[in-house]
Amino acid sequence: ASKSTGQPVTQYNTDLDTSTPHKIAVLSELDEALKSGQLSVVYQPLMDTKSGQTGGLEALVRWQHPEFGYLSPAEFIPISEMGEGIRKITDFVIRDAFSNINHWRELVPELQVSVNISPRVLLNQNFPQYIEALLEEYNVDGHSIVMELTESTLLVDPGRAIEIINSLASLNIEVEIDDFGTGYSSLSYLKQLPISALKIDRSFVADLLSDASDEVIVSSTIKMAHSLGLKTVAEGVEDEVTLVRLMRLGCDIIQGFYYAKPMPVNQVWAWLERNR
Ligand code: C2E
Ligand code: CA
Ligand code: CA
Ligand code: CA
Repeated sequence: ASKSTGQPVTQYNTDLDTSTPHKIAVLSELDEALKSGQLSVVYQPLMDTKSGQTGGLEALVRWQHPEFGYLSPAEFIPISEMGEGIRKITDFVIRDAFSNINHWRELVPELQVSVNISPRVLLNQNFPQYIEALLEEYNVDGHSIVMELTESTLLVDPGRAIEIINSLASLNIEVEIDDFGTGYSSLSYLKQLPISALKIDRSFVADLLSDASDEVIVSSTIKMAHSLGLKTVAEGVEDEVTLVRLMRLGCDIIQGFYYAKPMPVNQVWAWLERNR
């Protein structure tokens, strides 16, 4: 039936297909899932290429559903972003990260924890005050927190985004642009904003060695970032040859299965002991 509507067929994102009602239904169970411990946070190391040590950890949410098993955040996050769900999920992730970071910093004093912040969450007028209150509640230093925003977040309401990012900067929180290169690169904002790093999307990293245009994109992103005084992070690094190439191109921080998959909170301490 959908073929006769004449709607263009999109070649991307097959998430919102016929199974969407089922996924939305799952989201109505979010409160219950949070209460009963179905959600958890895993942490993936961010490795400093110069020192070879763990400079940070990215917090990533997980949902183990009693009936449907493991649900991918790539599926439930976009749906949660259509409503209030994303605020509850982000609050859960931030509290988990804030309650652990000081302990981990006993091993790695400069360690930072990165959290993903969706547009709907960031652009809330009270977001900086909310974060300030959480920093106080958990006695966390803003320097230990990084927030990852996508390019699209900056474009929804650039004026407001700039204002809020400046407020976060005054709390000493660092802001990075996530999935860089996949959105509409608003290069002019990069200059205006107190951004600390660009995170090069996995799609460019995956084919770095085989696709000449990806190599150009990655190397010029790194050069541009450095000339703007920004660091670069490459995500999705799965093998040593890609790692070596990225290091030659001057990439500062590496994240990927080559080093480690995201790990449950109770494995982080041992990881840091071995990789500091
Ligand atoms: P992202 O922010 O781009 O996170 C990186 C994703 O790449 C993670 O997937 C991570 O597990 C995966 N990854 C890292 N290294 C490799 C690698 O070497 N190979 C491969 N194949 N994958 C790698 P994950 O955890 O499934 O999360 C997917 C997306 O869901 C995230 O992409 C982010 O957009 C969203 N997400 C996850 N947790 C949160 C959250 O707490 N809040 C928000 N707003 N979004 C989240
Ligand atoms: Ca991210
Ligand atoms: Ca990313
Ligand atoms: Ca990505």
